[in-house]
Order: sequence, then structure tokens, then C-alpha cells
Amino acid sequence: MIVAIDGPAGSGKSTIAKELAKRLGFTYIDTGAMYRALALKVIKMNIDPQNQEQVVNILEKTDIKLSEDKVFLDGVDVSSEIRTEEVGNVASLIARYKKVREVMVEKQREIGKSAKNAVIEGRDAGTKIFPDADLKVFMTAKPEVRAQRRVNQLKEKGFVVDYNHILQKIIERDKMDYERQESPLRPTEDYIILDTTDKTIEEVLQFLESLIKR
Ligand code: C5P
Repeated sequence: MIVAIDGPAGSGKSTIAKELAKRLGFTYIDTGAMYRALALKVIKMNIDPQNQEQVVNILEKTDIKLSEDKVFLDGVDVSSEIRTEEVGNVASLIARYKKVREVMVEKQREIGKSAKNAVIEGRDAGTKIFPDADLKVFMTAKPEVRAQRRVNQLKEKGFVVDYNHILQKIIERDKMDYERQESPLRPTEDYIILDTTDKTIEEVLQFLESLIKR
């Protein structure tokens, strides 16, 4: 069984997808972590993320692996390092490139197919990676709520953050993800739309668990 959870930044998909996979004993696939890992390399190598040719060139020399909830970049665990807003924004820039998406989607399909059951999270999980997913959920919430959640998450990880800055970055990233040409963030009619603005994590989890069991 494949459960696809898509949605914009800060909609709660990571928290929900990870916990749902744990409760159900499914493999968890965080596709955003792969774009973030490549973004981290782009930043570290001082490459301009707007330079598609150079980004594609380093992609060909990059090894990205997902293992449970960890991501490895050229053999190094970068799971914490990729969680900054800067990495998220560069990830959004490079995720626009067709070649980058092709390589990532192929890897993500391989991981999904080798798992018996999986919860796969991203922007195109149910549209592009697994269009035949058994359940497709599009999680969303008001930008202000998403920004506040991001602030709390980053603070917990020890980062110093400013709410207004995060809100502005979230709005910018939404725009890039919704308006890009390649796999824009857009649910098809077979998605269940879940607005989590006024919902607790537990409420969302229970709702999804009951849907899956049905
Ligand atoms: O979900 P996360 O915030 O980690 O994703 C970072 C960025 O990677 C997103 O803003 C999006 O541009 C890109 N992404 C994507 N397709 C996915 C997952 C992430 O384009 N399946």
C-alpha cells in the first residue's frame, strides 16, 4: 500500500507522515530531504542555484540515500544540517529543473517499490512519483499557522529564528512550488484535501489511520 502525502511547506506533512508510518509499520519516504541534500551541496560548493547547468552537473556526481528517517549526502549523514530555511529555499529553486526531478523521481520510485508499504511525502508524491497511490492526501494550513509551526520546529532544534522572516520565506517558497512548470504543487481531484489549520497532530493522525484501515 502506498500513501501519498503532499502539501506546501509547514503544512504538517513531515510530522504526520513520519508518525503515521511508525504507527502502521510502513516505510517512510521523505522526498523533500533529497532535494534539500542536493541544495546543501549546491550551497557548500558555492554554486549559483539559478545556474541550471552547473546544478545538473553536480547532481551527476552526487550520491543521495534515504535510510529510514535519515538522509546521506555522499555517504555523510546530513539529516540535521538540511533543516534550515536557507536550504529549503535553495531546494525549492533547484527542484524546478526537469533533469533534477527526473533523477529524484526515479530514485523515489525505486525506494517505494522495494518497500512493502510506504508513506511517501512531498509535492508530487501522488501526481508524479506514484499516480496509482492507494490514498492521496493534500495537507494544507494558513500561511501564518505554517510559519508559526516552522518557527517552533526550528527553535526546538536550537536555531535562532524570526517569525516574520519565516513567514515571508514560506510565502516565497509557496509561490515557487505552486507556479513552477515542472510538477507544480497542485492536487488532482483524487486527493483528499485536509486543512490542518485548526487541527491537532493527533486528530489528523486518527483521521488518516481510520481512512487507511477502511
Ligand atoms: O518538504 P520540504 O520542505 O523538505 O521540501 C523542500 C523543497 O523541495 C520544497 O519547497 C520543494 O520545492 C521541493 N520538493 C519538491 N518535490 C518533492 C519534495 C520537495 O519539489 N517531492
